[in-house]
Amino acid sequence: MDDPAARCREALCYLSQVSGIKVLRQSSFYRTEPVGFEKQAWFINAVAEIRTVLPPQELLKAMQEIEDTMGRLTGPRWGPRVIDLDILLYGQEVVEDDDLVIPHPELHKRRFILEPLCEISSYTIHPVFGVSVRGLMERLDDDSRVYLYRANGEPCLA
Ligand code: AMP
Repeated sequence: MDDPAARCREALCYLSQVSGIKVLRQSSFYRTEPVGFEKQAWFINAVAEIRTVLPPQELLKAMQEIEDTMGRLTGPRWGPRVIDLDILLYGQEVVEDDDLVIPHPELHKRRFILEPLCEISSYTIHPVFGVSVRGLMERLDDDSRVYLYRANGEPCLA
């Protein structure tokens, strides 16, 4: 939606302000073609590495509070939204709750996830497939377009 890169920077700021979360690294921002619901503007996607004392469910809750705070709109699935925060990996843990699946089930299927993840964490092993993030990229069957977006702006130092 309006200025998605600014929304991503804002979300990273909120994340870094949560007690028990430290943002260690973030990828560049990428302009990515919508997948599944194509008649909409391109997205901005990025990946961050955090250190946290929050267990997975609490982390999810904290991220959903950020989404709510930022006024996430409900619309069609895969449609435009103000911000969408997902947990991709949680160390080597595997979670299969009704409302939380880690590793994220789309992680290995989507170029818009793997490109930024590979930038900051190419050697990380996917705990279910036992394959590195770079290995997943090499096996990837998704030719949707993902471009580096340079207007990343200053990192949030909060
Ligand atoms: P979406 O809007 O497509 O990101 O879906 C949001 C829903 O996915 C939330 O209600 C979560 O309960 C659920 N969910 C399942 N696994 C995850 C995950 N790894 N990260 C974030 N949300 C997840």
